[in-house]
Amino acid sequence: MSGAVLTLNAGSSSLKFALYAGTGDLPMAEGMVDRIGADEARLTLKSASGESLPVADLPLNDHAQSMNAVLSSLRTAFPNTEPRAIGHRVVHGGANHAQPVMIDEAKLAELETYSPFAPLHQPHNLAGIRAAMKAFPGVPQIACFDTAFHRTHPWVNDTFALPREYYDRGVRRYGFHGLSYEYISGELRNTAPLIADGRVVVAHLGNGASMCAIQNGRSVASTMGFSALDGLPMGTRSGQVDPGVLLYLMDQENMDSTAISDMLYRRSGLLGLSGGVSNDMRTLEASDSKEAHQAIEYFVFRVQRELGAMAAAMGGIDALVFCGGIGENSRLIRARVCERTEWIGLEIDHARNAENARIISSDVSRARIMVIPTDEGLVIARAARAHLAQERAA
Ligand code: AMP
Repeated sequence: MSGAVLTLNAGSSSLKFALYAGTGDLPMAEGMVDRIGADEARLTLKSASGESLPVADLPLNDHAQSMNAVLSSLRTAFPNTEPRAIGHRVVHGGANHAQPVMIDEAKLAELETYSPFAPLHQPHNLAGIRAAMKAFPGVPQIACFDTAFHRTHPWVNDTFALPREYYDRGVRRYGFHGLSYEYISGELRNTAPLIADGRVVVAHLGNGASMCAIQNGRSVASTMGFSALDGLPMGTRSGQVDPGVLLYLMDQENMDSTAISDMLYRRSGLLGLSGGVSNDMRTLEASDSKEAHQAIEYFVFRVQRELGAMAAAMGGIDALVFCGGIGENSRLIRARVCERTEWIGLEIDHARNAENARIISSDVSRARIMVIPTDEGLVIARAARAHLAQERAA
């Protein structure tokens, strides 16, 4: 019998998890610990039908304690289902990992060397793995990387035009959101194989946002580069900025790297442009403020610009796919993005868009426009299941 798998996504103060049975696309249960380390840290657990399940009353002061509380709660709720493998979301897999990897001490040490590339995420992802190794001794731990899907980029999309030695020292365009792109790619392969063989631009538009050019199932370009800051504006992240701006801020405004990092990651994007109205697209759409509307204008313009860039990387486009919280739900943003895309062969059907249909292009549109809900958790669960299948076959 195939075993259950657990997926984990450890952030700085949160631990999201989902328990999957041996087969099937939907988790049996999912939940999270949020505000880890703060007094009001809280563990929530929900069944597949969305019903809240009781949780263990254990301390949640760090990832290790939170992991024990998750484990104890799952054992009480599902006494006959012990996870046989654990899949972890890990933001950075460096230049070489194009696939998930099984974690041991040596691999953990290697992944730690990528922490300087993603200091806000990688250390927390690895803390989650360490906590899981302790809480589930002997259970295989599989790391799934946000960077892995992009390892197929040709050199021109893997590098910056800096002195060559920086490339060798790891200053490269890694790309992120790879688990989401892998999911969408797989969905296209299963449901629209002709499109999957063609030139697809996927717009993952959520609180984090990026776009990816996928040709014949392989990533050839992405708007995110060395860090998850590049490309599109996001909820609180800037997206692409002229590097000269940062030099100016250091030299003339005496901002150090901590102040610049805080500005670029937490105070920019939709939040910064809207003058503090919100980082949340729903709130901006409902707002009367001129700045909120300008933030939306900028977001739409940059998505349109990058759409052209991604299509150019493939010599054309056969489909545009929207996903992520904004891409899957905002009729307004999809309609606005597609307002000026006839030149590239994309024509939206407004009635289909209003219905949130899966295909929202018109019948005469040369290329297809689609909305596909993404599922990064399922990609991780599949990787953990694949490991178990390999073990069984060995
Ligand atoms: P994610 O990070 O993928 O969960 O996406 C979060 C973003 O999706 C936030 O900016 C939300 O405001 C946005 N979002 C979710 N639902 C809607 C909606 N119905 N209309 C507009 N934006 C939405």
